[in-house]
Amino acid sequence: MTRVPMKCRVCRGPAVIDLKRHNANFCREHFVAYCEEQVRRAIHHFRMLEPGERVLVAVSGGKDSLACWDLLVRLGYAVEGFYLGLGIDTYSDDSLAAATRFADARGLTLHVVDLETTHGFTIPVAAGATHRSPCGACGLSKRHEFNRVARDLGFGVLATGHNLDDEAAVLLGNVLRWETDYLARQHPCLPAEGGFVRKIKPLYRLGEREMAAYCILEGIDYQVDECPMAAGNRHIGFKETLNDLERRSPGSKAAFLFGFLDRMAPLLAQADGPGDAEVHACAGCGEPTTGDVCAFCRLRDKARA
Ligand code: SF4
Ligand code: ZN
Repeated sequence: MTRVPMKCRVCRGPAVIDLKRHNANFCREHFVAYCEEQVRRAIHHFRMLEPGERVLVAVSGGKDSLACWDLLVRLGYAVEGFYLGLGIDTYSDDSLAAATRFADARGLTLHVVDLETTHGFTIPVAAGATHRSPCGACGLSKRHEFNRVARDLGFGVLATGHNLDDEAAVLLGNVLRWETDYLARQHPCLPAEGGFVRKIKPLYRLGEREMAAYCILEGIDYQVDECPMAAGNRHIGFKETLNDLERRSPGSKAAFLFGFLDRMAPLLAQADGPGDAEVHACAGCGEPTTGDVCAFCRLRDKARA
């Protein structure tokens, strides 16, 4: 049986990717245009950015964060990158090298903070000292440092490369346990408040496979290895479950996430939430917290003890 070559939905030229959930194929040029359009829609729909606004993007060296940086620059925003060194062996070294290559090749500014140099601990050490999962210690450190560095550098908004697959997996985890507090804060655009800068996820409409394809087609040389501490991360299991569902029923992931954002998130935003707790400056670092000393300072003190 001969295979019929795929044709681009827009120009009918040879296609390089098929997107089953859209029942569409695209050539390189129109796939890149499709990615740009999805980010433009995300920004417009949730009023993430003003035209030309300065943005700090948190980059891990992986495909999503580098694609996010690339797409925001394409759309005309003044974007600088921030890399947080986690001290995870050669994985962290290779990730920093990928982020540095990307920035240098495009003449972009990359800010780097190393947890060990700046705060005296690494993620593996913090996880061991606190008996937390590495991802728990890592997520806490990232949230703290992303906000601190964004504010220190004078940015009012921080972008992350969370994609549709990431957000759908987090949503599934939150729904399975009816984590209403987390559900109320699961949003592609969290406004600035109480010492927190605005946080945006411009890639929430684009899937993991689409971001890998974007990087390959745009010549973005990203860190392809998985973090060695990822084993046991429950979101990986949720992603696999959603991928099974998507294979049987293309479009399920997007329907799940977008339906939540359109229909449930507004209801949760109206309900009385946990965001009413009083926020003030941490006695240790000055970052916003609801206690006297923030969770990051407590983690750092235990890790260095
Ligand atoms: Fe951090 Fe866990 Fe991601 Fe590794 S897998 S970078 S430890 S959150
Ligand atoms: Zn603190």
